[in-house]
Amino acid sequence: MSSEVIVGIDLGTTNSAVGVVESGFPILLADEEGRRLLPSAVWYGKEEEVEVGWTAKRRLALGGVVTSIKRLMGQEARAEEVSAEILKKLKRIAEHRLEQPISKAVITVPAYFNEAQRGATKRAGELAGLEVVRLLSEPTAAALAYGLGKMGELQRVAVYDLGGGTFDVSILEMREGQFEVQSTAGDTRLGGDDFDRLLASMVLGDDWEKGRDSLESARVMEEAERVKVTLSEQETATFRLPFLASGPVEKEISRREFEAGLTDFLKKTEACCRRAMADAGLEPAGIDAVVLAGGSTRVPAVREKVEAIFQRKVEEGVDPDESVGLGAAIQAGIISGAVREVVLLDVTPLSLGIETVGGLMNVIIPRNTTIPCKAGEMFTNAAAGQRSMRLRVLQGERELAGDNWELGAVEVPFEAEGKGQARVGVQFSLDANGMLEVLARDTKTGVDTVLTIETAAVDVTDERVEQMVSESVEHAFADMRARVFTEAKLKAEELLNSLEPALALAGEDLEEGELSAIRAAEARVRKEIEGGASNGPLLKAAVEELDQASERLAALVVEKAMGL
Ligand code: ADP
Ligand code: MG
Repeated sequence: MSSEVIVGIDLGTTNSAVGVVESGFPILLADEEGRRLLPSAVWYGKEEEVEVGWTAKRRLALGGVVTSIKRLMGQEARAEEVSAEILKKLKRIAEHRLEQPISKAVITVPAYFNEAQRGATKRAGELAGLEVVRLLSEPTAAALAYGLGKMGELQRVAVYDLGGGTFDVSILEMREGQFEVQSTAGDTRLGGDDFDRLLASMVLGDDWEKGRDSLESARVMEEAERVKVTLSEQETATFRLPFLASGPVEKEISRREFEAGLTDFLKKTEACCRRAMADAGLEPAGIDAVVLAGGSTRVPAVREKVEAIFQRKVEEGVDPDESVGLGAAIQAGIISGAVREVVLLDVTPLSLGIETVGGLMNVIIPRNTTIPCKAGEMFTNAAAGQRSMRLRVLQGERELAGDNWELGAVEVPFEAEGKGQARVGVQFSLDANGMLEVLARDTKTGVDTVLTIETAAVDVTDERVEQMVSESVEHAFADMRARVFTEAKLKAEELLNSLEPALALAGEDLEEGELSAIRAAEARVRKEIEGGASNGPLLKAAVEELDQASERLAALVVEKAMGL
């Protein structure tokens, strides 16, 4: 499985990221300094030099730096060129980390992007030397990152995405295993930058920008952002700029003060959420999960507001500013095939079954079945008067029970009957955690025997799964012959056992030729049994011959038995 790597890219207004699925897990790739987010900033020097990301952001106040270019996507060719520089940088980060050339990518776009904006994003990718194999909507990416939609069940998800300068809310609905965007709403001029400006005003007054040069304004905004980020973790933070032209500034700000100032912004997002729900024809109760995206949702008050709006806890487990990038990586992994290992957690990696007569594997749940699942079959007794059967639960891909792994075994009692009269239903239930419950029921008495096997059913290392599957392919022909032989041998023994009693009963009524044909076929069957497993097809033919040769004998036996 050395299929070509496809990377997933979050091409954001403020920050961008590149990710990939590695060993079954989506990760964002870090630059040389270990940073997984790249500022979407591009600096153009006088000599046509170009810097992208952190180095460009540092030159912000000095001029020549382009930021928030995403806002102009689809409106001018320059937007494509600037975006291409960001994409080239992400491509280089990925190539450096993965130590191989990268030429394909999934890129995320806002759900509301029109054809022109999508086309421009695609062209930006091509300019950067990337074939854009899919444009993925950002809310869908976020939902994927949180592991939603795996089961393919109907699921309605609200995605609340508050970034640096834009707010988007989307309602997604799962249909036939795919998320569809049902509605979107938002504000293209609302985001974390507003929070920074708010903090600056809290410290320096509402008209803090007046009379300040761009260099100073940039320093104020930078410090405000630092304070804001600190307040997401701590109750207080100090805004400190000792060298401003207007004099040194030092002020402690509490989270409570800061968050009080956010009320109006958050009310605006609430109105958008209500509109998105109304457009999708939903009340909060109709939503199954709420997912966060965007760095600004790390502000505790934002999260609380989201939970109040949707009247439920938000999904946990993913950094919201990474969710879109991780989702893009997952989609890329699905397309390239790298995600199969992730999917394995939700499917049976190997077939599950039981041993049947003759030591054969009888598959009840085939490998790669999505869990949870339930399946069963009816079995009967191989011998008359048998009072119980040993149920061996097996895992593996080989035809012969002995080549598979035994997960457990249990003795299943049933009422004594003639051969083939008992009816024992065997049902396998595999839950989402990989716990297997085996239920055997004697349908005559209704008595149940239950065997529970914890986790073993899916808890197999990838190497062992691969080994088992490759062995099963390697041995496919031998295994098939073994199965044919075993089945033919069972039939042969049955025929041979009934032959002498039948001849004793009705042999006299046979013609000379008939008797010798039976004896000849019998001899051949015995000889092929001796030959062993590789003789499967020959034994099968011999058994068929004996079956035909003794057809009239069987009819005579029946006549005799019925007194005709
Ligand atoms: P975009 O999607 O617009 O490209 P992001 O999702 O990266 O942007 O969000 C960037 C915004 O998130 C910035 O305003 C940044 O200050 C803010 N942000 C990042 N981390 C935090 C944090 N821990 N607390 C508050 N805001 C944060
Ligand atoms: Mg974003």
